[in-house]
Amino acid sequence: MNLQQKALAIVIPLITLLTAGYSYFVYVTTSEHIEQIVATEREQLHQQHTHYFKMMIDQRYQHELRQLLITPGLVDVFARQDRAALLDLADPVWRLLRAENPNVARLHFHRADGTSLLRVHLPRRYGDDIAALRPMLQTIHANHQPISAVEMGRHGLFYRVMQPIMVDGNYLGAVELGLSMKFVTNALRHMLGIESLILIGHKALEAYDAPIDDTVRLGDYILWSSSSDIRKGLDALQKGFDINQDANVITHGTQTHLLHTSHMPTIEGSPKAAMLFVQDLTPYIEKRNHTLFGAIISAVLVVVIFIITLRLTLSPLLSNLVATNRKLSEKIDEVTRLSITDPLTQIFNRVQFNHSLSNAITLAERYNTPFSLLMFDLDHFKRINDDYGHPAGDRVLIQTTEIVTRLLRSNDTFARWGGEEFMVILPHQGVDEGRIVAEKIRTLIADHSFDGIEHVTLSVGITQYREGDDIEQILHRVDINLYHAKQQGRNQTIADQD
Ligand code: GH3
Ligand code: MG
Ligand code: MG
Repeated sequence: MNLQQKALAIVIPLITLLTAGYSYFVYVTTSEHIEQIVATEREQLHQQHTHYFKMMIDQRYQHELRQLLITPGLVDVFARQDRAALLDLADPVWRLLRAENPNVARLHFHRADGTSLLRVHLPRRYGDDIAALRPMLQTIHANHQPISAVEMGRHGLFYRVMQPIMVDGNYLGAVELGLSMKFVTNALRHMLGIESLILIGHKALEAYDAPIDDTVRLGDYILWSSSSDIRKGLDALQKGFDINQDANVITHGTQTHLLHTSHMPTIEGSPKAAMLFVQDLTPYIEKRNHTLFGAIISAVLVVVIFIITLRLTLSPLLSNLVATNRKLSEKIDEVTRLSITDPLTQIFNRVQFNHSLSNAITLAERYNTPFSLLMFDLDHFKRINDDYGHPAGDRVLIQTTEIVTRLLRSNDTFARWGGEEFMVILPHQGVDEGRIVAEKIRTLIADHSFDGIEHVTLSVGITQYREGDDIEQILHRVDINLYHAKQQGRNQTIADQD
């Protein structure tokens, strides 16, 4: 594995890890952000619609009813059960309320016995017993207190406010205003931009003999009405919806909605009613996905840019470095070779010889094995130079080393000591074997014809390693032996014993 691969092997997993971590971080923080949005939206919806109900519907229309009841003579005509006079007094108020809000759909006077005295909105129908079907009426007839709630009637679902009609502490009956539920959804939509649904408990189907569209159901609830925009998507919203949770986050396709349920006031015995607010969370989810996607893409880009940069910059740099390194080590090899090589003969020089001799002594000491050392010197070499010229002398030196090199073994050390003097280390060889090698060298040279030069001979000194020898001692002995070979007439070999 080269440096570039190593860098990639470290950096890519690291960046991948960082990407994963960053993406997870983005995911978690945006998810928390969305949870926060859900919580805030839900709280806001809740506040807005309860406030709206209380102020704009409940308090307001209870007030209208109290105003109506203090119309001079109205309670008297009610007490006398004078329908025509009651209608004359109530009808202008009814028209005013309707003019202001067309969703005011019912104005109804009820007798204490549960029968209808006057429907101001439909004067020809009266006298029927409606309390039997209407728990709200039963309640006000029983406890004579104002009351507001959502309740189903024969003709639909209304938000109803009721006031008791009392004379001298006696309960005579009740007056009721009914607001169409569309008013609530439309008002929320127009005033606050909130889409909402009205749901009515499943029980409404059994309890009332009224035409109820039960095609859209959400849990135990039936859809009563909705602001127009969301009706289409309801089928999708039904899946996974739980009315008992006040916040449902429903995802269908690419859309995500927050459904916030708010239970509406109803009277014991009436079917339950609820409002469902729908808030589109899709933009938030999309934003989160985009951020996540962006995080991943940018991390991938970082990796790609890193790899490209590495390839463009580091790679040539590295191959340059490798090439330079190779050249340098070749140079070092060359310099090393030169430093230990004799330039003329290309065999080891004196530096390397000293090194080899020192090693040989160390090994001989350690393993107690002998080695022998040969030193030879060309005889009357000065004359050769004088007679044939220095270059011819050089050729003799070169050829002599070639002949000796061929003769020696690969683990022998052959070196030029200086001038026309040479050294040979013969590992594991005693002086007798050394003498044999020396004689071979001597005779080979003596018998060789050197390009017309006659009588090239050499003299050899031989010694064997002795325990405790150091370099000087062994060199001294071999030098003495060579000296003796010269003294005794040259072209001969002298060893220690001789
Ligand atoms: P001996 O038999 O006593 O060794 O006599 P010799 O003439 O060989 O010895 P001496 O030491 O007097 O001379 C050595 C000569 O070797 C002297 C020198 O010019 C010559 N010589 C040394 N190095 C070189 C070399 O590299 N090339 C040549 N051509 N001659 C060399
Ligand atoms: Mg000589
Ligand atoms: Mg010499």
